[in-house]
Amino acid sequence: MFYLNKIVRRNILALKPYSSARDEFSGKEGVFLDANENPFGILNRYPDPHQKELKKKLSEVKAIPVENIFIGNGSDEVIDIVFRTFCNPGKDKALTFSPTYGMYEVSAGINDAELITISLNSSFQIDFNDLGKYLNDDNLKLIFVCSPNNPTANNISKVEQILENFKGIVILDEAYNDFSSNGSFLKNLEKYPNLIISQTFSKAWALAGARVGIAYASSEIISLFNKVKPPYNVSELNQKAAINALINIEEFETKKALILKQKNILEQELKSLDIIKKIYPSDANFFLVETSNADKIYNELVKQKVITRNRSSMVKNCIRITVGTPEENCKLVNALKNITL
Ligand SMILES: *Cc1c(COP(=O)(O)O)cnc(C)c1O
Repeated sequence: MFYLNKIVRRNILALKPYSSARDEFSGKEGVFLDANENPFGILNRYPDPHQKELKKKLSEVKAIPVENIFIGNGSDEVIDIVFRTFCNPGKDKALTFSPTYGMYEVSAGINDAELITISLNSSFQIDFNDLGKYLNDDNLKLIFVCSPNNPTANNISKVEQILENFKGIVILDEAYNDFSSNGSFLKNLEKYPNLIISQTFSKAWALAGARVGIAYASSEIISLFNKVKPPYNVSELNQKAAINALINIEEFETKKALILKQKNILEQELKSLDIIKKIYPSDANFFLVETSNADKIYNELVKQKVITRNRSSMVKNCIRITVGTPEENCKLVNALKNITL
């Protein structure tokens, strides 16, 4: 069984959150002399600390109640808030799979949580025999699952199996789910009180510069996050940018379709090159490709001003390539053709 009150840090459970001027009076009309703001200007007022308008729009688009939504300053802030809510520094542990997104490890380090890393199998899926050894550790509070996984690009299957056998929290990072042929796991949110799903405006929504990340979870977990977050964690500019993106959903769909089409074209092009040994199946907007010599190819590409991500320290001889515009993909392919090893 999952008991939230056993998992959360005592100090956070007992915490009385900062009450901002905008918490105490949230009406729109009035003479505001309560927050020591400058009365002149355009961005002179503090933003809505609860991002009500953004959450309302998101709630409509995702069919998830507003009280199950938390907005962070990028999903990287969401990851940090998860650690601060659940992991006692110097005592508790988190678990991630390898290879995966590097911020889980960095955030664990910052928050002084011990990190257990277990390898994905040769198909980049979870080895449940290996995982099973750790599930009964009372100090293990968090398990991070990234699906589609970065940098391997595949969906991770059987997340239910972890949720059902672990009495801590599972964070399912769906940063790339918009590109995936599998639907989101969001439809199962109600079923699992120990599930947090994170998504972001940084990838398919084309707003990496705006820094807006989302956590979906039980209203009890969301209430805890609201205590831990800085009062005005998402700026007015960022909230507006995300609201605009949600209003222009057709533009989102059009660009996503274009990226997916380009992804197919790029895959065919890459397949025809001798220096590309293998293209791993991708459910995201990037490819993990095995090359004949990743370090050399990466550097040769940089010389031609084409920047990819060298992942050879994680998966031998692999580089990660993002699907760009038709012109960018063309430059990449031409640059690869210029390389002789
Ligand atoms: C890019 C990415 C994110 C996005 O983080 P933001 O802070 O929202 O920009 C989250 N998770 C993974 C796995 C990513 O690759």
